[in-house]
Amino acid sequence: MRQEPLDLIIEGGWVIDGLGGPRRRADVGVAGERIAAIGDLSGRAATRRVDARGKIVAPGFIDVHGHDDLMFVERPGLEWKTTQGITSVVVGNCGVSGAPAPLPGNTAAALALLGETPLFADMQAYFGELRAQQPMINVAALVGHANLRLAAMRDPAAQPTAEEQDSMQRMLDEALAAGAVGFSTGLAYQPGGAARPAELEGLARVAAARGAMHTSHIRNEGDEVEAAVDEVLSVGRNTGCATVLSHHKCMMPQNWGKSRATLANIDRARGEGVEVALDIYPYPGSSTILIPERAETIEDIRITWSTPHPECGGQFLSDIAARWGCDKTTAAQRLCPAGAIYFAMDEAEVQRIFQHECCMVGSDGLPNDAHPHPRLWGSFTRVLGRYVREAELMTLETAVAKMTSLPARVFGLAGRGQLSEGAWADIVVFDADTVEDRATWEAPTLASAGVEHVLVNGQQVFPAEAGMARPGMARPGKILRREAMAQAAAGAAT
Ligand SMILES: [Zn+2]
Repeated sequence: MRQEPLDLIIEGGWVIDGLGGPRRRADVGVAGERIAAIGDLSGRAATRRVDARGKIVAPGFIDVHGHDDLMFVERPGLEWKTTQGITSVVVGNCGVSGAPAPLPGNTAAALALLGETPLFADMQAYFGELRAQQPMINVAALVGHANLRLAAMRDPAAQPTAEEQDSMQRMLDEALAAGAVGFSTGLAYQPGGAARPAELEGLARVAAARGAMHTSHIRNEGDEVEAAVDEVLSVGRNTGCATVLSHHKCMMPQNWGKSRATLANIDRARGEGVEVALDIYPYPGSSTILIPERAETIEDIRITWSTPHPECGGQFLSDIAARWGCDKTTAAQRLCPAGAIYFAMDEAEVQRIFQHECCMVGSDGLPNDAHPHPRLWGSFTRVLGRYVREAELMTLETAVAKMTSLPARVFGLAGRGQLSEGAWADIVVFDADTVEDRATWEAPTLASAGVEHVLVNGQQVFPAEAGMARPGMARPGKILRREAMAQAAAGAAT
């Protein structure tokens, strides 16, 4: 029987399946949006062949922590994703998302992280725009808890009335029905930080009832990090809502090492059956809006953007303060609204957290920043180059699983995160000997090295000039729903 020619055969590479199994020499055949065959395909006809000899062929990476909500509209090329092999991203983290829009007069500083595009009335409108734009990569969306407060509460700094709580829960339920995979909290920011357990658990019950999940930028990542981890674990434990601790870290030297206790706490919860996972970005510096209260407590703070003083982007706060002849707190107040990078983490601790069996990679990239944290362009290739090849923290197969099948399972992205016949053809081809991040603190928008081909749903998105397999479709990404109930992450990345 004559077989139909395949659209693409990736020939002769080392295939890593994403499930943790050892690499094997095989060809990967793509038909339409799916992987059609894996094995010796030398006898099969194909419209196009890619030589991958000596290279790794792996599932495309899943970035579990993105802030690209509005970038799908503003800068749809998403080069900071495709150039490092990311084929799916979870947006709407840290309590802020592209929808729902605040009530008139309500706002929050953290919304500035997202971009300039006005927020959408609801998730249905947001997804409608994404469909019209055709996303470059796959996108799963969380609803921001801050958005819910700003859209439902007349005074978002207060406690919600019973009516406002109902209204938030109804909005969340509608967003989940429209296709959101869950909600996110940003308890370190206002107005999310005003929330008490009853409010969070009310929302988490709505999510759990729909099989959805929640992620949390916890209330404190410094002196009170242990209590803050406890708080978010309680939300999961009391409601049955699957939980992800975002960008887990312990900031300030006096707190370095506390992850031993927080990870043990996470393991205890998992032992009790609470579905919990976490993510990191592989750098010792963090980045968010500029918070003047941190100016005197953190030695090195670098400004990423400033509305009143755009010329200060990329400069250290201490240098700006010296030039202006004022203290650092005053300088920070003058720079706001602004963004900053804070150097207050221990690299050894970041690496230890990453080795936890349910730890994933989330870039937490901020594409709207003028001088962004380099994690935006380099998180995934940095893991491959520095954590695997140089530091040998784990095998390449394990690292790939932590960036593919583990997040697919945690977020319920069926048919993603693995190379197997019938799976979606999200594929990255890279050179294990040369892959690395190039983005630095000084030059943060340099593309990675060693990534050779990236396919989303069977179509090439990098290098862009190589063209798409199927003409007539500008961008191949899809909106991903939470299809499968995620199993506890246990044993995911063995
Ligand atoms: Zn965050």
